[in-house]
Amino acid sequence: MKLHILRCGQIRVSPAAAISGGSGAADTARMLTARERERVTLPVFCYLIEHPKGLVLVDTGWCREISPRGDYDPKAVRRVLPGQLAALYRPCLPEGEAVYEQLAALGLRPEDLDCVLLTHMDADHMAGLRHLRKAKRMLVAEDEYFWSCRTVYKLRQPMSLWEGLPLERYYYRGMPLGTNRWAYDLFGDESLMLINLPGHTDGMAVIRLESGGKFLILAADAAFSPKNWQELRPPGLGFDRGMQLKALRWLREQAEDPACLGIFCSHDPAVKPQILTF
Ligand SMILES: [Zn+2]
Repeated sequence: MKLHILRCGQIRVSPAAAISGGSGAADTARMLTARERERVTLPVFCYLIEHPKGLVLVDTGWCREISPRGDYDPKAVRRVLPGQLAALYRPCLPEGEAVYEQLAALGLRPEDLDCVLLTHMDADHMAGLRHLRKAKRMLVAEDEYFWSCRTVYKLRQPMSLWEGLPLERYYYRGMPLGTNRWAYDLFGDESLMLINLPGHTDGMAVIRLESGGKFLILAADAAFSPKNWQELRPPGLGFDRGMQLKALRWLREQAEDPACLGIFCSHDPAVKPQILTF
């Protein structure tokens, strides 16, 4: 199996978003109004998996429309995101980093993708989906979709980012994995498991890839860096701190497993784009 770690833009957020930011209304308001000089730049990663059973993309990063010239363009951001999300993320997508540009650099077209998996429906993971409408399948957990459509989640997960796209929903099934004992086995051979790890959102999936007795985990936003599980301090913007802590304890257990090759978080500035073969 081969894993490409692709940097699909960045966010410029309050440091509280990455660690100990809290999830109450006052915490979120502080993150929204953080001054420019207090903010930190964090990457937005997505992942291309060359799996023997298919070519799989995990998450999509930002869309080109948010950053037409590759720099931070507040007006362009506001055309894609509602004001509060625009203020929270201050996103930008340097030239060549959009998901379709990265695929093209690898000699691939969106229609070559057998599957696009969305770990969850937050804008920084979903916005690039519009470039991938020709992918063979795009999948999100029913539990994530349900909350996004029907609850206050739609404020942080604008429907405009995916309306009209052929999103398929999968159902988690009971399995002795993760904190919620719920997972979905994409290929039916346990080589690519989507494991429900609630806390950041209800339906969020982390991805466990296994090959030759070794495994690695794509932790989405359950943690923003290893510091979160080492110090048991959750990132901000979660919906349930208790569940976030449970998720961090689970990630720490995985990290200590000798078969674990690594845990990669979607916004860890210490991670560099790279290709891993295992
Ligand atoms: Zn994120």
